[in-house]
Amino acid sequence: MDKKILVVGGAGYIGSHMVRRLMKSNYQVIILDNLSTGNKKLIQGNQWVQGSLGETGLMDQLFREHTFEAVMHFAAFSQVGESMSKPLKYYRNNLSETMVLLDAMIHHDVKRFIFSSTAAVYGEPVEVPIPEEHPLTPTNPYGNTKLAVERMLADCDSAYGLKYAALRYFNAAGADPAGEIGEMHDPETHLIPIVLKAASGEIDHIRIYGTDYPTQDGTCIRDYVHVNDLAEAHLLALNALIEGGKSDVYNLGSSNGFSVKEVIQIAEKVTGNKIPVVEASRRAGDPAVLIAGSEKIKRNLGWKPQYKDLESIVQTAWQWHSKQT
Ligand code: UDP
Repeated sequence: MDKKILVVGGAGYIGSHMVRRLMKSNYQVIILDNLSTGNKKLIQGNQWVQGSLGETGLMDQLFREHTFEAVMHFAAFSQVGESMSKPLKYYRNNLSETMVLLDAMIHHDVKRFIFSSTAAVYGEPVEVPIPEEHPLTPTNPYGNTKLAVERMLADCDSAYGLKYAALRYFNAAGADPAGEIGEMHDPETHLIPIVLKAASGEIDHIRIYGTDYPTQDGTCIRDYVHVNDLAEAHLLALNALIEGGKSDVYNLGSSNGFSVKEVIQIAEKVTGNKIPVVEASRRAGDPAVLIAGSEKIKRNLGWKPQYKDLESIVQTAWQWHSKQT
């Protein structure tokens, strides 16, 4: 019988790519998603439970009805700026609700967990590329909630033998090349989809948040990694746990950084359109540079990202974007 995986947040951007990848590998997938930031259009397969990970009764019912090999958790709020103005929304969803899910897992003896963590756990880097051993000093509530969950997972490993992989993503980008799923947030806050909206004329311009950072062109530098490469890394981490591997923490990035202005230039090249920009003030909570050192997951789990340049990543995002309009 196919192994069953619970994908919490499977109707979201990264979660939907994960579900697609799991199904390709013949895993049976149950999606739990309340559609608070996910979208029905992104749901792959036909096993979707509409609900939240914080609903104790629902969690108990799910774990009683199904025997899960593992749980993958993508259902978090992830906007740095919003987390600065609404921290409790982030602590409630990202931390307290995850506790309810973990409680149910432990109660029903499900002991494998793949967690979407983030580069935001590091804060302002003291070393670039950032290795996993870098100090953990988040600069925003979003990063604080993710770090708190990482620590909770380590404690659950010590106490209950929960085995987990915490995957610290840098900037997820792009879309599955088949064009059926991709990034769609409402409102959209991420750089690449906004840049593409400006390229297609859906919005007048893109606002560059901060041009006075200590970087070459004054704009923030980020490390963009293709969403299918992220999904592949999760699959490797899942299989390692199923084979009896120990808990671990991995960065997922490309080890290359691009400034906001460089991303805009690449998008102009890919789309063939001029992208109007407006220079605006810094967005609260944004570190100047985030670039991942991803050697550990390559070495330990054999991760081989397929998308090596930002142009091809933006190309897949543009393909998806063009289909939506
Ligand atoms: N950014 C920007 N204009 C926008 C959206 C984002 O200048 O409309 C910048 C943002 O300040 C950050 C980078 O682009 O430096 C990437 O932001 P995003 O929200 O995509 O991801 P994050 O790094 O916050 O996870």
